[in-house]
Amino acid sequence: MSNLKRVYSFGNNDADGNGTMKELLGGKGANLAEMGLIGVPVPPGFTITTDVCTDYFKLGQEKAVELIKPEVEAAMKKVEAIMGTQFGSKENPLLMSVRSGSRASMPGMMDTILNLGLNDEVVEGLAKKTGNARFAWDSYRRFVQMYGDVVLGMKPDSKEDHDPFEVIIDDLKKEKNVDLDTQFSVDDLKEMVSRFKKVVKEKTGRDFPTSAWEQLWGSVMAVFDSWMNDRAVYYRKLNKIPAEWGTAVNVQAMVFGNMGENSATGVAFTRDSATGENIFNGEYLINAQGEDVVAGIRTPQEITLEGSQRWAKSQGVSEDERKAKFPSLEEVMPVVYKELFDFQNKLEEHYKDMQDIEFTIQDGRFWMLQTRSGKRTGAAMVKIAIDMLAEGMIDEKTAILRVEPERLDELLHPVFDKKALENAEVLTKGLPASPGAATGQIVFFAEDAEKLAGEGKHAILVRIETSPEDLKGMNVAKGILTARGGMTSHAAVVARGMGKCCVSGAGNIKVDYRARTMAIGGKTYKEGDWISLNGSTGQVLDGKVATMSPTLSGDFAKLMDLADKYTRMKVRTNADSPRDSKVAREFGAQGIGLCRTEHMFFEGDRIRAMREMILADDEVGRRKALEKLLPIQREDFEGIFETMQGLPVTVRLLDPPLHEFVPHEEANQKEMAKELGISLEDVKSKVDSLHEFNPMLGHRGCRLGVTYPEITEMQSRAIIEAALNLKKKGIHIFPEIMVPLIGDVTEFKDQDAIIRATAEKVFAERNDRIDFLVGTMIEVPRAALTADKVAEFAEFFSFGTNDLTQMTMGFSRDDAGKFLPEYIDRGILKADPFQVLDQTGVGQLVEMGVEKGRSTKKNLKIGICGEHGGEPSSVEFCNSVGMDYVSCSPFRVPIARLAAAQAVLKQK
Ligand code: PEP
Ligand code: MG
Repeated sequence: MSNLKRVYSFGNNDADGNGTMKELLGGKGANLAEMGLIGVPVPPGFTITTDVCTDYFKLGQEKAVELIKPEVEAAMKKVEAIMGTQFGSKENPLLMSVRSGSRASMPGMMDTILNLGLNDEVVEGLAKKTGNARFAWDSYRRFVQMYGDVVLGMKPDSKEDHDPFEVIIDDLKKEKNVDLDTQFSVDDLKEMVSRFKKVVKEKTGRDFPTSAWEQLWGSVMAVFDSWMNDRAVYYRKLNKIPAEWGTAVNVQAMVFGNMGENSATGVAFTRDSATGENIFNGEYLINAQGEDVVAGIRTPQEITLEGSQRWAKSQGVSEDERKAKFPSLEEVMPVVYKELFDFQNKLEEHYKDMQDIEFTIQDGRFWMLQTRSGKRTGAAMVKIAIDMLAEGMIDEKTAILRVEPERLDELLHPVFDKKALENAEVLTKGLPASPGAATGQIVFFAEDAEKLAGEGKHAILVRIETSPEDLKGMNVAKGILTARGGMTSHAAVVARGMGKCCVSGAGNIKVDYRARTMAIGGKTYKEGDWISLNGSTGQVLDGKVATMSPTLSGDFAKLMDLADKYTRMKVRTNADSPRDSKVAREFGAQGIGLCRTEHMFFEGDRIRAMREMILADDEVGRRKALEKLLPIQREDFEGIFETMQGLPVTVRLLDPPLHEFVPHEEANQKEMAKELGISLEDVKSKVDSLHEFNPMLGHRGCRLGVTYPEITEMQSRAIIEAALNLKKKGIHIFPEIMVPLIGDVTEFKDQDAIIRATAEKVFAERNDRIDFLVGTMIEVPRAALTADKVAEFAEFFSFGTNDLTQMTMGFSRDDAGKFLPEYIDRGILKADPFQVLDQTGVGQLVEMGVEKGRSTKKNLKIGICGEHGGEPSSVEFCNSVGMDYVSCSPFRVPIARLAAAQAVLKQK
């Protein structure tokens, strides 16, 4: 163990490590080493590995220091030799920076300490050596402030109080009558440092450490600690970064951008991270240290002349004023700018990706502090990949793998204006159930959403939870917010299908339907008040937040074509209206994998006939009502078949428990009693009789068709008749009739017989026929376990992983929102199994279902139609078990297409 290398040096065009060692050295450390090797000037230093972070949390500070002390001391000697200065020396001091750096970049989440090594004596030495007392004392006060904050934990007394150091700075500004930090004299800065140290003593009971080595160890351990701060933990959760990875620590010689007018510091991108355009851009500040650019105390200026002129135009600043007050680096330091420009080019060519860089110019000398692959918007991700492919920088496979499928979402839905979003107040956070940006006025009832929409206004439908009765209101609302329900709750599934923004399961909101109010934290919102929803993050925001509608670029189309070239699986869509089918086709869907027929029964007059059917006392009554539904269904299918012409369409027979269709509120029950000419009591008792304790495990799925075969008959007839009607028009479609929720092959056989008999009857009546398939969903665990038997009769399988997850894990789809967030917070589950397929558990049943099914029928057509069909890691899994297609909501089709292509490339 003690022979293990734990400290890696870099600098002077050399390095112990290299760019491939991200796991051990973190992203920053690996790239510093790599830059050292390829001749980009980096200040010398060393990286303490991520392993030490793990050791630190296991063994504690003392042991961790013991473990690395000899290596750190040796590495420091190398830095001293390169810099010609000494750590802790009064006459010829070497100052260091200490920065975090994990495997995946986590910008701004962890801590940094600059100017380490200063004390009352060293600062005088530094002043003398540089001949710049102001610089020396300014560096010292920054150090005390940062160290006090990060290492000594000097925090405000309460949320309402200010940072104790900022209070001192403000007091001094008043006393000295100055506005800006830069106006303080050397004596002012000395006074500031003395007050800083005094407040440290008061609050911590200890003197500020004067030993450079004590400062160094304190800083290294504090950076390790910052791996576990709230921000970092939260960021990791958002980005699915495992806590086990740990952070590396980079200790590096300081170079100074604050040494005077010939010094500067800046941040730049090799391409535009918002649009992806191939334009070098960034910001800098003369005579400043890195954190000044980020902290926004001074307004940074554009690096390039082009950027500077564009900025001036947008701000209404004249060219003369721009040149005088806000010149670009290109104008101010043309020689160094040229160096910077060449180095950024070199880095992009070397890494073959857009880079985000940080640099410092010390007294006219250029230093690169950091390079990393730059964060970018979904749109930029696509453009950069396609551009780099065209430029010959990357190949087709790399271009496909460069784009994170999920990020394509941003290209398809309206988006918030970035600036507006930054300024908005976040009220609470729910689940990001359906992406998009929505701003509107609160309504609590579906009818009110319709009313508002009818007046051309924007409504946000706020519900404790939604039911299919709310469908119309959901359809016309700009966004949907629910207090309960998970990612596959009704609201979420329906909203995704509609491409509608939805935040579900926002447990902190208290909805009072009676008072028509919603309380969040201390605030109460009334009907008509404005809120905004960010369906991509789950944020609920106060008031109106400006949005922009997206434009689909030619690059997007190119990426999709490229994906299709490499993919194996087909991508279908879950759609139950001609409109959804059309959207999905435009996104490249190659068929419908799931048409949920029940959604058709809620609109307009249909619900009346449906209720009549449900409330009927006997088969005769049911058949009468079903006769009314037949032409409606047939027409619906014709509409869908027509939009999907030539492509396969899987139609599923009625699935949900019947109580979902009947009214539960007395006013609606009264209305229904009147319509049907029966008493309110009769309606009530029928509704009561439909009550089930576990409706999702109750009278639903094929169990409806088995007990009421006339429903299956009507639906089969509607499907076959619709196909025959279209055939007459020369449109050939290929229906796949799907039986839901079977657990035993005999259930399938029962329904299969009805479907086939009905089809033959229709063929005889019409004296014409079509080809069709009859298959089943595999969504009850027993169906997966006995898939070989089921495949003897079923002609295709479609995995319903929503129900399969529900029944395998024993988590109710509609109630899991109550505990799943805590499960995920506490790491009991890594992800919501209703979003990301649980490959270890549920996945076994899927794999077994595929294998057993194909052991009976070698070429059995198999797909997935649960929500997982549009989730990239689950799509990859479906590819690996050999499915023929995935099916997902229309707006996820492009995501699934890209994920399916990536799955093939990753498998190879
Ligand atoms: C499923 O269970 O995965 C499925 C697609 O059916 P539904 O969501 O309609 O129950
Ligand atoms: Mg299901």
